[in-house]
Amino acid sequence: MNIHEYQAKHILREYGIPCQDFRVVSRATDIEEAIDSLGVTEAVIKVQIHAGGRGKAGGVKIAKTREAIIQKANELLGMKIVTKQTGPDGVICHQVMISELADIAKEYYVGLLVDRAHAKPLLMVSPEGGTEIEEVAEKTPHKILKVHFGIDGSIDEEALNKVCRFMDWTEKTGEAGKIFIKNLCKAFVENDGEMLEINPLIEDKEGVLWALDAKFSVDDNALFRRAEIKEMYDPSQSNAQEVIAHEMDLAYIALDGNIGCMVNGAGLAMATMDLIKYHGGAPANFLDVGGGANKEKVAKSFGIILSDANVKAILVNIFGGIMRCDVIAEGIIDAAKELQIKVPLIVRLEGTNVEKGKELLKKSQLSIIAADDLTDAAKKVVAHANSSK
Ligand code: GDP
Ligand code: MG
Repeated sequence: MNIHEYQAKHILREYGIPCQDFRVVSRATDIEEAIDSLGVTEAVIKVQIHAGGRGKAGGVKIAKTREAIIQKANELLGMKIVTKQTGPDGVICHQVMISELADIAKEYYVGLLVDRAHAKPLLMVSPEGGTEIEEVAEKTPHKILKVHFGIDGSIDEEALNKVCRFMDWTEKTGEAGKIFIKNLCKAFVENDGEMLEINPLIEDKEGVLWALDAKFSVDDNALFRRAEIKEMYDPSQSNAQEVIAHEMDLAYIALDGNIGCMVNGAGLAMATMDLIKYHGGAPANFLDVGGGANKEKVAKSFGIILSDANVKAILVNIFGGIMRCDVIAEGIIDAAKELQIKVPLIVRLEGTNVEKGKELLKKSQLSIIAADDLTDAAKKVVAHANSSK
């Protein structure tokens, strides 16, 4: 789950990481009060959305007078922001951050993530901050240093020294840099971080280091023990289908293809999507109804898939283990009664109660295209989706 920059900065501050002071406003009438309580006459105003690249998209403005701060904050509130990460639909900015303006001498990049291949958290640093790290990785990979740190959030002195040398942080800045990185690693692990990016981390004219930006995404599966972070969930930043799925506790991710998929189990969902791709199609979503779904959940999942206007054909691929095929069939039939299914529906059922499930579907008189196995199902759904173009 992604959280906003201002929320991430609240967390970072608890760990002693220096961030410029700021206020967050969601109503135009609160702007002046925010400026007064911050006590500034110049500021940077930033849209609070769950996507990077805000600066390039016009979502970060510098204002040098009180009037300009008010004007820019008003402009950004309610603005639709389209960046590479939001997709073409963009997201609406419901909150803006008014922050003390930093005097930047140098910009650095710091990123923390979980390195699954090594089963350890990984710290990535680069003296090339402010720009996209993907670009640095592609053009000048030697300007990125990667070091693992402890699963308990600790980082040893040797790694810290290596980071300081790489970033050319010496003397006072070197000492501050070590504390900064140490606290960052701790904050990352103690909040079940999946990814934390400080881009840029800046050095001001006095050699002081600050987190100028913060993008933090936290492991969904750990939210049960992070009540304060769970509260930060912001449905306005996800697409409509993802929000319903979140409420239903379904694993759903919207994609940009045209084949709706309903599958049980993440592994099977991945395999199904691979096969669709292999046969020349493109999935419209990843949807795992889970092992123990009931018929209401299946019906709801079906509704979510159908509410996506891009869906031109649907593939239901269920392996009934704990999940019984007849329950899936009932869910599909219920959903079909409520919602009109105007697109071809390809169903591949296998496993527990498969005969009963098939029988129910047959009796329902729904026009279903049955598939014998996975390859057959993938070929059929791709053919139908492509022919409807
Ligand atoms: P992003 O575009 O979503 O990554 O948003 P950032 O918060 O990283 O801001 C984008 C860029 O705006 C930064 O890389 C800085 O160059 C610039 N910027 C942001 N805040 C300040 C500030 O306080 N002072 C100055 N001088 N520039 C800033
Ligand atoms: Mg940034």
